[in-house]
Amino acid sequence: MKFNFLQKQTSRREMLRGSVTLAGSALMAPFFPATLLPASVAGYGQQTPSAADLLASMRAKFNAAPLKTQRIGEDVTMLSGPGGSVVVLNGPDGKFVVDTFVAPAWPRLKEALDGLGNAPVKCVINTHWHFDHTDNNVPLHAAGAMVLARENTKKRMSEAHDLPVLYRGPDGALASLHFDPSPPEALPQQTFCATHKLQANGESLALQHVAPAHTDTDIYVHFEKANVIQMGDLFFNWMYPYIDPSTGGTIAGMIAAADKILSLAGNDTKIVAGHGPLGNKTDLTKFRDMLVTSRDRVEKLKSAGKSAQEAVAEKPFADLDPVWGNGIINSEQWVQIVYLTL
Ligand SMILES: [Zn+2]
Repeated sequence: MKFNFLQKQTSRREMLRGSVTLAGSALMAPFFPATLLPASVAGYGQQTPSAADLLASMRAKFNAAPLKTQRIGEDVTMLSGPGGSVVVLNGPDGKFVVDTFVAPAWPRLKEALDGLGNAPVKCVINTHWHFDHTDNNVPLHAAGAMVLARENTKKRMSEAHDLPVLYRGPDGALASLHFDPSPPEALPQQTFCATHKLQANGESLALQHVAPAHTDTDIYVHFEKANVIQMGDLFFNWMYPYIDPSTGGTIAGMIAAADKILSLAGNDTKIVAGHGPLGNKTDLTKFRDMLVTSRDRVEKLKSAGKSAQEAVAEKPFADLDPVWGNGIINSEQWVQIVYLTL
């Protein structure tokens, strides 16, 4: 099937109407289990959910996760749960925070950061533009932090986007979720194009871009002394990843990014995924191999002339699903994501 990304030339009102219509009688994808939906979203038929309602339900779903704190280096802490993984470098030079969880998790994020010590948050780094990594730029900046990201992250946050296959439309097909441009106070204050180096708290941070992979805004952050690499959504540990075709994501780019990190990582390197538990080189190798298998199988179906729906019906990942299909993205979504980003 062909996805309609709600043409840019349509007015915003038309775009929103389109999103609402698509969401109308929605059977929600796993992002939106009925129990977590607000009544206005779950009550099909009486009231159609707005794009804002759908996004709010997605934030609520992420926010339902408990927040876990795990020390992964002398001055480096991983926070995981409500919207993925956050890594904090803490010390006398201030806190350096990579990614920020979803907006409703702010009180818990603040509490966890305060619990690490009295140093103020000096710098926030976004691994890419998605809301579950940038949502709390606003309160962190308001508290005095400078937000740092790739130039492309700022550009993408400043635009409207429609991300495909995130929920079911009225025709039963997986449809797009609409995002408005972020307000100016949410945007990074400092940006770089390809590479940026930071020295703080006795640690050396290398911020490095990759070619379009999960999006066209991705970086990874290498804490060189602590031997930690934070990959953002270039890595989902033991679950199918989301890849964002609306902002340049490609399955080939995801494979190339995994290969690049595998070439940097040693057996003792701690690898932080955007979603999922703390990983290592073995986990990333399994993820990379799953990506290659997925690409090869869907490529074969696509080049044989199958549509995305026909490819889904073939169940090409039946053997992979028990291991990889129980996270954020299910098997049907993953077939469509691979098909769209080949
Ligand atoms: Zn993402």
